[in-house]
Amino acid sequence: MNKPDAAPDDLLLRLRDFHSDYFPLHQQRFQDLVAQGQHPKTLFIGCSDSRLVPYLLTGAAPGELFLVRNVGAFVPPYDQSHGLHGTMAAIEFAVLSLKVERIIVCGHSHCGAIRTAYEGAPDEAVALKAWLKLVDEALLPVQPSREALRRTEQRAVVLQLERLMDYPMVRRAAEAGHLSLHGWHYVIEEGEVHVFDAEQGAFVPASLASHSGTGPYHPYVEHDGQILSDG
Ligand SMILES: [Zn+2]
Repeated sequence: MNKPDAAPDDLLLRLRDFHSDYFPLHQQRFQDLVAQGQHPKTLFIGCSDSRLVPYLLTGAAPGELFLVRNVGAFVPPYDQSHGLHGTMAAIEFAVLSLKVERIIVCGHSHCGAIRTAYEGAPDEAVALKAWLKLVDEALLPVQPSREALRRTEQRAVVLQLERLMDYPMVRRAAEAGHLSLHGWHYVIEEGEVHVFDAEQGAFVPASLASHSGTGPYHPYVEHDGQILSDG
């Protein structure tokens, strides 16, 4: 244990910086979010990878993204087992209680989850091995070349969108036109998200895309052409 007069560690310094530098500039927003509660319009399901920074990618402000992150950005198949499925619980809460208007599933280039699905996890990683089975259907019967990994990462995103549509509350909201599904593949080294276009059945770079992506079954028309509200 550090003595009270020990030099603060780096992380403690960052906490102090947030409180002293960032917070005073945005204090009103945070206090409004407490007084009025959160009303995010977007559920963002992203890989846990440290290089994927959803708030940077989307320019979102506090209160705009309801986040769930896991290894690979996977969506467990909907089942009635009532097990301890954190990702399922987050989806149910976001759709039923928060009534989000869009769900983004965001994979990325150089995803360790996808690579490990091909190469195998350490024997001791029992939960990880089981979890990675969620991407089995997206794996290709080839050696995991750079190109194959890229394709698999994208196939995995589409697979999760399809699984989402098996959630009754997701399907209901999507079919009623209240919810859209977006599949994204973030290419870290290019700084660009490729969005899944259900009509083309392909991922299109955001710089060339005409919308932020529509998932299976439900074409979504943005009112203002923005994935996130400005407000
Ligand atoms: Zn990843």
